Amino acid sequence: MLKFLEARQIVLERLAPREPKRVPLAQALGLAVAEDLHSPEPVPPFTNSAMDGFALRASDCTGATQDTPIRLRVTGDLAAGSVALEPMAPGTALRIMTGAPMPMGADSVIPIEHTRHDADWVELAKPLRLGANVRLAGEDLPEGGLVVKLGTTLRPGEIGVLASTGFAEVPVFPRARVAILTTGDELVDCGTRPGPGQIRDANIHALSAQITALGGIPIPFPRVVDSREGVEAALRQAIESCDMVLTTGGVSVGDYDFVKPGLEALGAEPVFWRVAQKPGGPLGFWMLNRKPVFGIPGNPVAAMLMVEEYVRPALRKMMGFGHLFRPERMGILEQAWRKSGPDGKVHFLRVAVREKDGLLHASLTGPQGSGILSSMLKANALAVIREDEDAIPAGGAVLLHLSEMTESE
Ligand code: AMP
Ligand code: MG
Repeated sequence: MLKFLEARQIVLERLAPREPKRVPLAQALGLAVAEDLHSPEPVPPFTNSAMDGFALRASDCTGATQDTPIRLRVTGDLAAGSVALEPMAPGTALRIMTGAPMPMGADSVIPIEHTRHDADWVELAKPLRLGANVRLAGEDLPEGGLVVKLGTTLRPGEIGVLASTGFAEVPVFPRARVAILTTGDELVDCGTRPGPGQIRDANIHALSAQITALGGIPIPFPRVVDSREGVEAALRQAIESCDMVLTTGGVSVGDYDFVKPGLEALGAEPVFWRVAQKPGGPLGFWMLNRKPVFGIPGNPVAAMLMVEEYVRPALRKMMGFGHLFRPERMGILEQAWRKSGPDGKVHFLRVAVREKDGLLHASLTGPQGSGILSSMLKANALAVIREDEDAIPAGGAVLLHLSEMTESE
């Protein structure tokens, strides 16, 4: 049977970043940049004062001491946003505010609190370093300097720097629309009291939230009835209007599992079905109209884990992000854990990880059955038990996928 890492690799190989588009900077937060962006101008654009104080020539106050202060004539003042038209004469100073362009002739700024002063004079009791408190044009970013690399996630910091360099619009990989189809005649909306034999549809909300959290646009579809025609009709609509389709439930070998036959009736290319993993064994992956379709098992834990481990990196690739995977670390599993027997499958366990003395300690969040959704509540990582590992002793080493950390390394 196909292994987890092979299956994930197959998915990623089938996908490519979406067509880039330009969006206003205010809509770009969280998206990946579609080109290397270079600063078209130096930042700051002109040499300016870093302090409220007096602009002067450092050479005018070389001999200043407490006992023999040097007094300069103040010829005017300069606010941020205005420009001094006249060059400054030697022996004079200009009152200057933070951000105001340095007047011609001045090379240094003395902060106001380091002086004695009056309306038309200023006194220095010690010399001033040449260039003190002056911000040079281009010292933050030179003209042509690289601001962000292709594939970089735009965080508030990148947005601020791009604004300062004049990018009112940025080329990004746009958000992908992800259709979410839940199947199961037993399901009712979460605001409804379930009748006999019914349960609430958790997946439509959990998966929508996961897609939103990674920057995609979830499109929750009306629940799909368990029939081949029902599945086929919903899939047809989903594939037309979205960039990726997720179905949950109905992908196993039960009598009412219609996702596979529905996809086949539409002519979807079966890429794989079933992976040696637990939970999530019956995961299926198809391509239809060059768009990916994930057939995800219905158990809510399995469904969420499959989105985390497969759909998230897949969608990140489609949305052009440079880093696809969450950080991985080795940690210590606090409780002993064993498979019910050697099964050659990867197992994903929900764990709460905390750091102690530089080591990551992972504690199981409770029973690990794939129907036990409350095991997600305290989890901030997945412990990944390899195909060939059958047991981990208490205190044994375990691979962790840190599912609350961003894919930044
Ligand atoms: P299935 O994959 O359709 O065989 O479903 C496996 C189990 O998951 C069954 O117990 C279903 O009732 C349950 N299940 C399927 N879909 C959902 C859903 N959307 N929300 C909550 N439970 C579900
Ligand atoms: Mg079902």
